[in-house]
Amino acid sequence: MKVQAVKGMNDVTPESERGFLNTTLWQGLGAIAAEHLESYGFRHVWAPVVEPTELFARGIGEGTDIVSKEMYTFEDRGGRSLTLRPEGTAGIVRAYIEHGLYRSAPIQKWWYMGPMFRAEAPQEGRYRQFYQIGAEFLGVAEPAADAELLMMLSKLLERLNIGGVRLRLNSLGDPASRDAYREKLKAYLDAHRGDLSEATERRIDANPLRFLDSKDPKDLALKDAAPDILDSLNERSTAHFDAVRGLLDEAEIPFERDKTLVRGLDYYSDTTFEFTTDALGAQDAVLGGGRYDGLVEQLGGPATPAVGFAAGVERLAMLLEKTMGVPKAGPDLYIVPMDGHVGAALALADAVREWAPFAIEVDVSGRKVKASMKRADKIGARHAIVIGEQEVRTQRGNLKDLGVSSTAEVLLSGEALAAAIDPSEES
Ligand code: AMP
Repeated sequence: MKVQAVKGMNDVTPESERGFLNTTLWQGLGAIAAEHLESYGFRHVWAPVVEPTELFARGIGEGTDIVSKEMYTFEDRGGRSLTLRPEGTAGIVRAYIEHGLYRSAPIQKWWYMGPMFRAEAPQEGRYRQFYQIGAEFLGVAEPAADAELLMMLSKLLERLNIGGVRLRLNSLGDPASRDAYREKLKAYLDAHRGDLSEATERRIDANPLRFLDSKDPKDLALKDAAPDILDSLNERSTAHFDAVRGLLDEAEIPFERDKTLVRGLDYYSDTTFEFTTDALGAQDAVLGGGRYDGLVEQLGGPATPAVGFAAGVERLAMLLEKTMGVPKAGPDLYIVPMDGHVGAALALADAVREWAPFAIEVDVSGRKVKASMKRADKIGARHAIVIGEQEVRTQRGNLKDLGVSSTAEVLLSGEALAAAIDPSEES
């Protein structure tokens, strides 16, 4: 019997029949995101994929959907409870505390890219293993940190040529403001018992905020008249939110204040945001994030302000596929040995690689020249050259440009071939 991948977990391959799971697309996306984040001073961090379960229970919150029903948790051989990370922030904050950075270098700008795991019901755009690119800006409480992060993200989407994305912005205030708001919302919902969705009615006491992101038509009808959290914010949180909005206006970054944006993780405070697009259907969030000034302390460090984001790589790839299609990435040069001259072909390939990091494939399959040339075409090679008895003897060969089907004689040196296949040299 064939073994199959776990449901909701994908393979990303060069030949993927689903365009957004294509290697070339992911590599391009990863390279642009890395360059962009680094250009804003973020440095790459690799944190473990597995963490003690307690980290997420304490960090994300026991009452959240993620912790209460979506974590992949298991006991290791020593009987410790471990969990495949459902998100990146808790692990980053653990590392920040564990290495004592709050003492030696409290301001850290870190980014990461890697797999996350949530046992959600798989559907288009929602997977059980998915990838996130994210960043965390630790140690700065100023609204300029939030604003710069949002400016960076809107520039990143621009750079990726992803249009039609809306930035939705809200503030959750500090914990005291949020508690005050929770009570107000609870009173409002209590007064409408009977008109609300069943799920909301069940959660009025434990988690009334969940009403705000309910998509049930019954709840939707009551959202407009619901109390606005901005009316419950204290002076500091109000000033913080006003300053973030002011800086975004100054930078001409369009956004919409959305009083229903609460997000599903407990650690957020003050600014929360999400970039959404209609192009993705039901799973419309491309990326989300916000400020989490209480998390470092909650996980055992000293009070440390922080703000961050996480973007879904699959969803970014889906949007990229829509705008640019799936890029073809055949080798720059395909070398076809003939008359048993595979050794000379391999040596020639290495000689060219010494000049520039071209992608070169030698056909070592031993098949006939015609079949080799067919494969070169099929995989989208840019150039091909046959190396046989005559080529080895004369140290000259015919380089075929497969794009325009022209042939040119070249010297069989690494330097000459490298120059001949260099796209910047082509007329
Ligand atoms: P979150 O960590 O829930 O705030 O999610 C941040 C981003 O990760 C979202 O905006 C999505 O793009 C992506 N994401 C979250 N959950 C999933 C999932 N199950 N499958 C694919 N992408 C996801």
